[in-house]
Amino acid sequence: MTAYDDDNIFAKILRGEIPSTRVYEDDDTLAFMDIMPRVDGHLLVIPKTPCRNVLDASPAQLEAVIRTVQKLAQASKAAFDADGVTIQQFNEAAGGQEVFHLHFHVLPRHEGVSPRA
Ligand code: 5GP
Repeated sequence: MTAYDDDNIFAKILRGEIPSTRVYEDDDTLAFMDIMPRVDGHLLVIPKTPCRNVLDASPAQLEAVIRTVQKLAQASKAAFDADGVTIQQFNEAAGGQEVFHLHFHVLPRHEGVSPRA
């Protein structure tokens, strides 16, 4: 298992060292807008504690994050009057992960509209 490196961008966002547009926060999780949104309303949900990805996550971290993902998927579907919601998550570089702090993408989706690449 590769060690967690707290020099990653999302750890810096958590520490307030770089700006982000925060949309939700509780004791265990934070959600903010993706800087390169693939659809309007594309947001990211992360745990506040160090965790590289799902492969590295504790049950408590997973539970906290997925609860927030569900809450924000429901809220953003309503807020964007969406037809559905895509929830995406990547693990390690070979799995498509670019930022090595656990995160879930939440994308409100509309019929016939493809996410930008
Ligand atoms: P992944 O690791 O899931 O492949 O992708 C990381 C995601 O983080 C990308 O969608 C990218 O646009 C987003 N991202 C990268 N750097 C920043 C940043 O500095 N701020 C925010 N808000 N999002 C970022």
